[in-house]
Amino acid sequence: MASQHFFDTKIEFLKGVGAQRAALLNTELGVFTFGDLLQKYPFRHEDRTVFHQIGRINEEMPAVQLKGILRNISKLGEGKSARLTATLHDHTGMVELVWFKGISWIEKILHEEQQYIVYGKPSLYGTKFNIPHPDIEPWNEQQNRPTYLHPVYNTTEKMKKRGLDSKMLTRIMQNLLKACYQHIPETLPQYVMEKQRLCSKMKAMIAIHFPKNNTELEQAKARLKFEELFYIQLKILKQKTTQKTVSQGFVFGKLASLHEFYKSHLPFDLTGAQKRVIREIHKDMTSGKQMNRLLQGDVGSGKTIVAFVCMLMAIDNQTQAGLMAPTEILAEQHYNGLKPFADALGLPMAKLTGSTKKKERTQILEQLAAGELKILVGTHALIEDSVQFETLGLCVIDEQHRFGVAQRAKLWQKNTHTPPHILVMTATPIPRTLAMTLYGDLDVSVIDELPPGRKPIKTVHRYDTDRLRVFGFMKEEIAKGHQVYVVYPLIDESEKLDYKDLTDGYESIARAFPAPDYQVSIVHGRMKAPERDFEMQRFINKETQIMVATTVIEVGVNVPNASVMVIESAERFGLSQLHQLRGRVGRGAEQSFCILMTGYKLSQDSKIRIRTMEQTNNGFEIADVDLQLRGPGDLMGTQQSGVLDLLIADLSKDAIVLQNARVCAEEILETDAALEQPEHESILHHINSLSKNTTLWSRIS
Ligand code: ADP
Ligand code: MG
Repeated sequence: MASQHFFDTKIEFLKGVGAQRAALLNTELGVFTFGDLLQKYPFRHEDRTVFHQIGRINEEMPAVQLKGILRNISKLGEGKSARLTATLHDHTGMVELVWFKGISWIEKILHEEQQYIVYGKPSLYGTKFNIPHPDIEPWNEQQNRPTYLHPVYNTTEKMKKRGLDSKMLTRIMQNLLKACYQHIPETLPQYVMEKQRLCSKMKAMIAIHFPKNNTELEQAKARLKFEELFYIQLKILKQKTTQKTVSQGFVFGKLASLHEFYKSHLPFDLTGAQKRVIREIHKDMTSGKQMNRLLQGDVGSGKTIVAFVCMLMAIDNQTQAGLMAPTEILAEQHYNGLKPFADALGLPMAKLTGSTKKKERTQILEQLAAGELKILVGTHALIEDSVQFETLGLCVIDEQHRFGVAQRAKLWQKNTHTPPHILVMTATPIPRTLAMTLYGDLDVSVIDELPPGRKPIKTVHRYDTDRLRVFGFMKEEIAKGHQVYVVYPLIDESEKLDYKDLTDGYESIARAFPAPDYQVSIVHGRMKAPERDFEMQRFINKETQIMVATTVIEVGVNVPNASVMVIESAERFGLSQLHQLRGRVGRGAEQSFCILMTGYKLSQDSKIRIRTMEQTNNGFEIADVDLQLRGPGDLMGTQQSGVLDLLIADLSKDAIVLQNARVCAEEILETDAALEQPEHESILHHINSLSKNTTLWSRIS
């Protein structure tokens, strides 16, 4: 197929483009070649193929096209409130047209008692419909009316100024499609298209721009979405199968200290969900293949103990275990939490972070290389090349943000012969569609049950004017011996302002909660790490009752005695962040509270976020709402991963398509992992052209 070269043709050589427009397309839309332009899909279509009857207009209708006689042109009002109105009549009724801008020009081109075609969105005004700022043009019988839906393309101000608007792009796109449609290669096997009931690529590419009707448009979208998600899943799964077939894994058959731990040291009964995921992990670690598994569980669901149990499996089989946390504070907490268990079992354990002193570090590295040290807990310092284990059997990653394939691969290389098993634990639940894409190369286990006896956190919304009452409530809780967090947002753009909010807030709290009765800690991002740790430690040790902080405390910190979380300017936080913050309380036996403080002015989205928080404590439900509100690109930790810059599919809406694409990719790789069979030639060919040309394929790795 020589066609690929054709799509690489520089855009300036397209009829109707030329050097100047090409330069604009390059800089404004990132379009350089025929292929690039072809993939600039319109963001909506206007249906100019049918005429609606004026008498049948209703409020649910999107923009409609009407045909009729124009009457009653009149100018009303003066200056800013000036407007031009006219009425359009057909045999079924009458509708009013209104213009607020460009009045004098429109007045000139309109003539009463002539026939016009009008296109616009009707809105109900009192009891009558009107159409503000419709497209309007004279109608004559001879004129060719379009037989397809009009595409509307994204353009920029600069493009519009130079006449390269959506209409011009439409003309250029027509030229392009005329020139290239025969060259569009099919990228899916025939049998897949039949099974999934998809139209051909060629048909889809024509119809995504110039569909004859809505059915055709939907078919085109369905086809292109499937293809996009299919190739992403194929890539991810291919990576996964390669990893699995290449990598032999340690077989952890012996469970001596694990049994001892279960019998004598386990401080509580494991939940059913914890037991189930431990079984899943154990199965992986005895399969002979390397494990790459994601452990999802809501805040407080008890992931740490699961991690520890799995670490024991590694140690029982003459290997070492590592646990990596996103921050020093968390590494410290994991270390302190697990040390007593390790001591009871007589297992040497150490902590390694960026601030570990050189002498201690040298000693740790020596003992690690000699295999004397069994457990190493730390920060990202763990993946540094200088950190050499004798044999790393399992590494657990308790992550804050996305820990990509590349970083995991660095861990795989810690051993020369057999790569360690890897268990990634997420801090926030992720909707399935996202997990399948962001972590598609991992197997997934879910802890969907909280330990028994937890009282659900009570969440309430309070306005800034209720602050004194909130202070009163905080005093009651502190009098019971509990502790309180007060969290302020800190968002980059307005960092100075936020900092002022924080310090003002701290001062007003310090005034309302004076020493010596009360002690207040403050922790924020501008403090040096040791200073921050010191303040945090004072709170953990109960030396202070109130912790005023920015979101630096967001992740994982465990102070079971804290029972109140006050979130200031709660409307400025995303849902998953609010949920994470709330998860800092409710860790002890006492009833805990989360108080969301806001001003009176709230956007629709903020209201939904706050209501969702009040209504549910379930992290998976919250993650779903978050995905609906924000779309996948903005979800926590996913910003940097280009995986989510999709051309047409939308992970918040296309879960079913994604599922189908995933299953289809799995089936293909199961029967033909190397894609050698003739019916898969189109796939292989497309992968090759993707990796050479477009950004899609390379973005994913
Ligand atoms: P997360 O999943 O958020 O990391 P943790 O592992 O920190 O949660 O566990 C939260 C708290 O619940 C800890 O204090 C832990 O000791 C406790 N916990 C974990 N599992 C159980 C259980 N099965 N029964 C009772 N308490 C548990
Ligand atoms: Mg945790």
